[in-house]
Amino acid sequence: MDVVCPKCGSTKVMQIDYGGKLEMGVDISQNSAFKCKACKQKFGTVCGKSEYSSIVKSFYLSINGVYANKDVIALKITAGDNVIKYKISSEKLGLDKKGAVSADYWKSFCFSLFNELYLTGWKSNFYNPELLDGTTWTLDVTLEKKHALSYRGCNGYPPYWNRLLSLLSPIFDETGINSTIFTV
Ligand SMILES: [Zn+2]
Repeated sequence: MDVVCPKCGSTKVMQIDYGGKLEMGVDISQNSAFKCKACKQKFGTVCGKSEYSSIVKSFYLSINGVYANKDVIALKITAGDNVIKYKISSEKLGLDKKGAVSADYWKSFCFSLFNELYLTGWKSNFYNPELLDGTTWTLDVTLEKKHALSYRGCNGYPPYWNRLLSLLSPIFDETGINSTIFTV
């Protein structure tokens, strides 16, 4: 999978090896740390490989579109002790559904969020000032010990936006939502 900078989207990303040296064109299938040559941000694995799912307590994504072909949607996934529930609603689609996802799905979803989408390296605000009217979105992830990650956008999207949507595709598919209307 190609790594792009989670902040600016540049593909000029270098891997930082264990000696702190930067190398380009190395095998990036291994999780480690990277540096973006364009914006200088460092990003990578945040806290060891295992059990990301145990630190994520909830995930909330809402997309609020005013374009005619875009719909307002809100998805919340809540991880309880034994069951991971989701609730998805769309006023425009007249949709209000609840369901559950498997522990395996949740485990790989959480892992991908931090190791393939580099969530902690996202900007908190993706705002495109050239358009006043359009799609806004909100992403809130709560972690254990009341830590929270929050991201907002208005006509601007993180470089990993489409990958985020595809991570969620099992839920969209199950609830009959065509998520391609949200891709950018
Ligand atoms: Zn960058």
